[in-house]
Amino acid sequence: MKQIRIVLAGPRGRMGQEALKLIQETDHFELAAAVDRIHDGKYISDIEGLPSLKAPIYTDIEKCFQEVEADVLVDLTTPEIGRFHTKKALEYGMRAVVGTTGFSEEDLQELRQAAEEKGIGCIIAPNFAIGAILMMKFSQMAAKYFSDVEIIELHHDQKLDAPSGTGLKTAELIAQVRETKQQGHPEETELLPGARGANYDGIHLHSVRLPGLIAHQEVLFGGFGQSLTIRHDSYNRASFMSGVKLAVDTVMAVDTLIYGLENIIE
Ligand code: NAP
Repeated sequence: MKQIRIVLAGPRGRMGQEALKLIQETDHFELAAAVDRIHDGKYISDIEGLPSLKAPIYTDIEKCFQEVEADVLVDLTTPEIGRFHTKKALEYGMRAVVGTTGFSEEDLQELRQAAEEKGIGCIIAPNFAIGAILMMKFSQMAAKYFSDVEIIELHHDQKLDAPSGTGLKTAELIAQVRETKQQGHPEETELLPGARGANYDGIHLHSVRLPGLIAHQEVLFGGFGQSLTIRHDSYNRASFMSGVKLAVDTVMAVDTLIYGLENIIE
């Protein structure tokens, strides 16, 4: 397999550290450099707690792209900086795999245009857990036969948005194949506001936030005399790395922007 040289942005972050392990463990991946807002001029191997990879660290991403030969930027940072990094990568003709979440429609549109102008690939995936993508696909499949469905998504208590992007995406995928239906008793009333959760096209979405959780979701379907539950659990951030690997391999062979891992999993 052809070697893929990676620039990793956010190497000290929780996702970034998992990505370093992935790069170290994958024969055809090589860390060309890292982008970090501190430790400019040092090597990854100089940083306590990080693997002994002799890859230079840059704070200025443009300097990094000018001095280092690489194939793909992997960005695992924050929305604002991730958007800037991805834009710069495409400007320099470098492919990008972005796990950073929180990009707006306008951001995606701008990056899509930049990728198309350069004719290079860019994959942005808000959920890299392959099991979570399959959960969404299986749920869409089941919704053709079960029109009564509720979604419960459960996350750690530091999560800022609710419902989760995956919960909302699941509801959207189900709504594409299910006839619009208001569920529950037509005259039901909430004794406490919000008791029935959020409502997307008649599908109820419930968000649980507890310390100790990472990212989990249950999609519950009910029919006459039967129920079907589809559940996915991410127990740690390593669960996202098979998706990152798939995206890095795939981005080398595409010439446009792809949003969502579901679009590269058959
Ligand atoms: P994290 O532990 O907070 O790591 C974020 C990293 O970004 C840190 O290394 C941080 O460095 C760096 N950073 C922040 N601001 C920066 C700046 N201005 N310049 C350069 N680096 C900067 O977060 P995480 O849990 O690893 O998550 C990272 C991203 O991935 C988030 O957007 C999260 O929502 C997303 N995520 C995606 C998936 C998926 O499947 N796609 C799964 C989990 C998480 P400092 O320490 O200096 O702040």
